[in-house]
Amino acid sequence: MYFPRPSPPKRRAAHPTDGSVLIDFGGGVHTYTMRSCLHPDLPETRLYISSVKDQLHPDYHPIHGLKSAPRVYRGWFYRSTPDGQGQEGEVAVKWVRGMKRIETLEWERENYCRLFELQGIVIPRLWDYMEATIEGIDVACLVTEWCGGSHPEDPKLFSAQKLELAVVLHKEGWLHGDLIDAESHHWVVAEDDKTGNPLRLVDLTKASEHRCFVDGPERCVKRDPDGCQELDNMAALRLLNL
Ligand SMILES: [Zn+2]
Repeated sequence: MYFPRPSPPKRRAAHPTDGSVLIDFGGGVHTYTMRSCLHPDLPETRLYISSVKDQLHPDYHPIHGLKSAPRVYRGWFYRSTPDGQGQEGEVAVKWVRGMKRIETLEWERENYCRLFELQGIVIPRLWDYMEATIEGIDVACLVTEWCGGSHPEDPKLFSAQKLELAVVLHKEGWLHGDLIDAESHHWVVAEDDKTGNPLRLVDLTKASEHRCFVDGPERCVKRDPDGCQELDNMAALRLLNL
């Protein structure tokens, strides 16, 4: 799979070329005209969504349903390549509708690009980001590698892995911005991990650049005078094995 380098031009300045994207939401195959600023010459793409259970309910229709929270589908992504081999794999598809949510999703896409070096290590790999206007409805989707493994059963291991990755993120000069509580829903597990720490952080909608000095997950933490609430919190949770 080709993973684009960081900081592509913003959506409105990208002049992307529309391409053909076949999407199967489980109730039938539709071909949509979409655009991608990561792949301006959008090759033929197919996206088979395998986790739509409620599509028959009008409120939950992926395009015409309620403008509720973003939905994350599980799917299979296929894209043609010039050599005819194709690129494919299991993906998570974060799907939104409406311009307000699209702006937020685009911000998340930009953060994925800015954190390109941490893709596949701290955050999932970004496969693509596509937008479309379908039957008058603006939609967008963020396609990332599927990380659907189970959290570690050992709470000590789990909290240690979380702190380790948070420290890597902070050393890179970023914070996640939504790790304050003990909830673990922003932590997912890459089943084919080769880094030794299979956790990945998702939902970068509140991530931002952050100046932080850390020596390591185990020892003293030297910070700027403003402190680092996120790492302090992670360290405290680790003491409680949460
Ligand atoms: Zn920090």
